[in-house]
Amino acid sequence: MVAGPDVYICDRCINDASGIVSTDVSTPKPGSATPPSRRSTPNRRLSPLEIKQALDIYVVGQDRAKKALSVAVYNHYKRIDAQEYYHEYSDVELEKSNILLIGPTGTGKTLLARTLARVLDVPFSISDATALTEAGYVGEDVESILAHLLQSADFNVERAERGIIYIDEVDKVARKADNASITRDVSGEGVQQAMLKILEGTIAGVPPKGGRKHPEQSLINIDTSNILFICGGAFEGLNDIIAHRMSTNTIGFMADTKNRIDKHDPSIFTHVEPDDLLKYGLIPELIGRLPVISALGELSEEAMRSILTEPKNALVKQYQKLFAMDGIDLVFDEDAMSSIVERARTLGTGARGLRAVIEEAMLDIMFDIHSKTDIARCRITRETILHGSEPIFEPHKATA
Ligand code: ADP
Repeated sequence: MVAGPDVYICDRCINDASGIVSTDVSTPKPGSATPPSRRSTPNRRLSPLEIKQALDIYVVGQDRAKKALSVAVYNHYKRIDAQEYYHEYSDVELEKSNILLIGPTGTGKTLLARTLARVLDVPFSISDATALTEAGYVGEDVESILAHLLQSADFNVERAERGIIYIDEVDKVARKADNASITRDVSGEGVQQAMLKILEGTIAGVPPKGGRKHPEQSLINIDTSNILFICGGAFEGLNDIIAHRMSTNTIGFMADTKNRIDKHDPSIFTHVEPDDLLKYGLIPELIGRLPVISALGELSEEAMRSILTEPKNALVKQYQKLFAMDGIDLVFDEDAMSSIVERARTLGTGARGLRAVIEEAMLDIMFDIHSKTDIARCRITRETILHGSEPIFEPHKATA
């Protein structure tokens, strides 16, 4: 018997009830709407504004990138609807809007892609371009990217075919301009070539467990034409290329010097053009398959500060929850938070540094706290962050 307030239910009734509910949901009643797969109008999609608002809950700042992503994703799913529902526009073919996110490490590229998948409730996977090699070399086949997505869709091929794949570190597979070797550039151009097909849309034979394909293995066919690919990379050195282009464009007596920009300007990546990526070492075909390019800026001190406390699963909130489960109220002094941001910024890993700094400071505290008794409140001070001093513990107030 499972007890509730004034009611009891036995395990058999629970099973019966759940059976009734699930058959009720899955079998359409006579005369009711056709099942979703055969509907004549598409489900209502989130508008770009709604997508951006949902991203705002988890990701701080990066407004331009959020807008670009929201519109690109909205158009992507419209394109899918167009194939299924709007046959009257079939003479105009909508192109796929795969996305390239450029920006320093720890500024939210992966977070944006992951949050997007969460908002849209579609399967999502992350792969690393540096782990891939072209067929025949040691490393993973490009199809393994799809195997990851399939796994995250619980092997539901139809769901996986609407998913989002984030490919990290695409900048690391750029062709090296000064590669003097006459042997093949295994890690670079070959991988870019291999990625082309799946980014564009193909039916790929995917080994269900990832890794290398081999002849006796059974493969699952996945159509990649409706999978949205988001590629990301830090593109270190691209700022030099952009700054150089922008300054050479402004040479001459009549030059317009307004456009000149310093290569250290945090907004420099927002001026990126496909030509710059070509110079960086991406092959033109790959650039062509990533029509939406968006840049993320370096996070300001203020943004880092907000990241600590504002997003839905902000770091401070996470630690507070952990402590609250032990009945302890965790608070951070204002200047403790400033010190966390200050130290994190010196690490040069963007917002990723925040976790590193907090974790270092909290480790000893979390280890020792159970040996102390009667703690109601744990106050983290600036000294705790900077010098590892003990936080201030406050006991429960004595009740009269
Ligand atoms: P990258 O740009 O290198 O892909 P990530 O998206 O993986 O960086 O960010 C690393 C971590 O830093 C994330 O897990 C997240 O907690 C935090 N973070 C980075 N940027 C932001 C942001 N703009 N808003 C909120 N959290 C962020």
